Amino acid sequence: MTDILRNQLIETALAMNACGLNQGTSGNLSVRDGQGMLITPSGMDYAGLSPDDIVWMDFDGNCQGVRNPSSEWRFHAAIYQHRDEAQAILHAHPVSCTALACLGKGIPAFHYMVAAAGGKDIRCADYATFGTGELSEHVVKALEGRKACLMAHHGLTCFEKDLPGALALAIEVEHLATVYSRILAIGEVGILSDTEMDVVLEKFGTYGVQVS
Ligand SMILES: [Zn+2]
Repeated sequence: MTDILRNQLIETALAMNACGLNQGTSGNLSVRDGQGMLITPSGMDYAGLSPDDIVWMDFDGNCQGVRNPSSEWRFHAAIYQHRDEAQAILHAHPVSCTALACLGKGIPAFHYMVAAAGGKDIRCADYATFGTGELSEHVVKALEGRKACLMAHHGLTCFEKDLPGALALAIEVEHLATVYSRILAIGEVGILSDTEMDVVLEKFGTYGVQVS
């Protein structure tokens, strides 16, 4: 099972680059595995990753493997500990999410697909230095009742029930961030009502997020 997960992790990491979500070695990706997680190594180009480069670690930071884990492993561990439904976590610095996050802006319900992240908006977590426990606290808080958040002066983090789901959600949130940024540049943003978002969330709860 772990070997399958290691290969899935590499495939998804490569897909993050191929779809433009990730630049260089700034992103990271993990999947829950037993009492810990498998996570991409620190500072390595995804293109050359082999299964042995993937690090297994528990949520206290004890590692098994030849590489060092991503320097941002702490918030991955914190999310798994706080959210039982989180099975895979994706973090990256995609352009539109990061631009909004550098303004300290989250994404309001300007489009019904915001509900794909689990609620009526996508919050922006407060800033703290990367790799710190303080940042983990901010991210966990911004993810309350949500599966995705922006991170001030940093980027995007999301989770799902599996790796393909996490990738799909990240692509959706980056698309929403791109459209929202464009609206901010050209006019007034209309926001869907709480009542309408309740209807959308209900439909998402019923049908999953496979809507178009
Ligand atoms: Zn980062």
